[in-house]
Amino acid sequence: MSVLAIDAGTTGVTAVVVEDDGTIAATGYQEFAQHFPHPGWVEHAPEEIWQATLEATRAVLKKYDASRLRAIGITNQRETILLWDRETLGSPRRAIVWQDRRTADICTRLRDEGHEERVTELTGLRLDPYFSGTKLMWLAEHEPHTWALVESGRYAVGTVDSYLVARMTRGTYHVTDVSNACRTLLFDLAKGDWSDELCRLFGVPRDALPELVPNWGEIATTDPRSFLDLSLPVAGMAGDQQSALFGQTCFDEGDSKCTYGTGSFILTNTGGTLERSEAGLLSTAAWRSPDGDLTYALEGAIFVTGAAVQWLRDGLQIVGSAAETAAIAATVPDSQGVVFVPALTGLGAPHWDPHARGLIIGLTRGTTRAHIVRATLEAIAFEVRDVLETLPARAALRVDGGASANDLLCQIQADQIGVPVERPAIVETTALGAAFLAGLGTGVWSSTDELRETWRLDRRFEPSGDRSGPDEAHGRWLEAVSRSKDWAR
Ligand code: ADP
Repeated sequence: MSVLAIDAGTTGVTAVVVEDDGTIAATGYQEFAQHFPHPGWVEHAPEEIWQATLEATRAVLKKYDASRLRAIGITNQRETILLWDRETLGSPRRAIVWQDRRTADICTRLRDEGHEERVTELTGLRLDPYFSGTKLMWLAEHEPHTWALVESGRYAVGTVDSYLVARMTRGTYHVTDVSNACRTLLFDLAKGDWSDELCRLFGVPRDALPELVPNWGEIATTDPRSFLDLSLPVAGMAGDQQSALFGQTCFDEGDSKCTYGTGSFILTNTGGTLERSEAGLLSTAAWRSPDGDLTYALEGAIFVTGAAVQWLRDGLQIVGSAAETAAIAATVPDSQGVVFVPALTGLGAPHWDPHARGLIIGLTRGTTRAHIVRATLEAIAFEVRDVLETLPARAALRVDGGASANDLLCQIQADQIGVPVERPAIVETTALGAAFLAGLGTGVWSSTDELRETWRLDRRFEPSGDRSGPDEAHGRWLEAVSRSKDWAR
């Protein structure tokens, strides 16, 4: 028996078949377009996300016999918000992506009106454009004709998970789970339900929001007419970071992981306790079991890490692929004092400044692309260190995600944090988590203990004994971060 996991990420959709021994039998991937209609804005076309989902799944079904599949798990980029017509399933406009900064002024306004404390108390989040609530407010204010159809009930509002379930089931289901709901600014984290108070504050009709379902169990059934002749239960759902936490088998309080994708996200399982951070971490729901038990996490969300590597490739065009950054950076022993602060969409945890912008500082006549590439990898490691320093010390860090394939990055990370970095054999942990949830929901696996036994180490990166070199570089980084702040106000 096996499970099909769909990982609808920020840059593309991955489809993965996971066997009951935890190994991967087949994968498919389809990238989709990023739209940047204005500086600081990021959009995706919902139809393109759906077509990429079909394409990635088709690629898997070419290599794998669909009759062996028991269930589907879905994981997705969180906070990205979209609308669709409940009848036609077409979308009236593009999705506003989590990285989009257009609502920085709305956040400032709400803060000036004195709402931040209450919003944080209820949601565990902060007033930052990252989260969906202000994106919906922006739509209501700037596209009133579209918004009127949200209010009349014709358009559904949802995150990417709920959109995919709607498309897979021909519009029969409009559902989401707590790990996605808790990122909207509309969810009461302690109660574990949508909040009428927050819906009023952000002007979102509660009826437009999806129904909340557990993270595993039989949630919906795909319609073969819409989804490649497949009639399978959707039996696991979670936002990408919570899914990666599950995929790394971080089931116990204190377990944590760091995922290096478009952004980097450090999550620590805090069990049944809703913990709050004074140091810029978010409180978030991890998952809810079918019997209603809610598990929480603390999260350090860094927006631009792998995306900075993408920018080297597509924006600056100084590398041909993300993969070659390790070899290019290794041609120099250090960045020769060059520091890159990739605040390309503002700064997230722990610095939080939507008005920060990127900078590259320390350039000299001797600077080459190798120094800039190395400074990019170092920046990723510095950003992660900044978050880890706000959490209790740990013995080692479990990593995953696309950029964790970069050995040099993992080594720089270990040197920066002074503890080993452990990379599992499967770094598509986000998809793995969705597969685990769906398999747990349909009896492919009977317990989390059984899942834990499937975790395998690929490589452990030991920190070098030297603390002074890494600490000095990190000090220069913090100085550069302070200079990047407030630039776009
Ligand atoms: P997401 O799920 O956010 O789309 P992935 O986990 O698929 O992200 O990782 C893709 C990101 O990782 C891209 O931003 C890419 O630039 C970066 N990346 C992929 N491979 C490497 C590598 N070898 N070195 C550095 N960055 C990489």
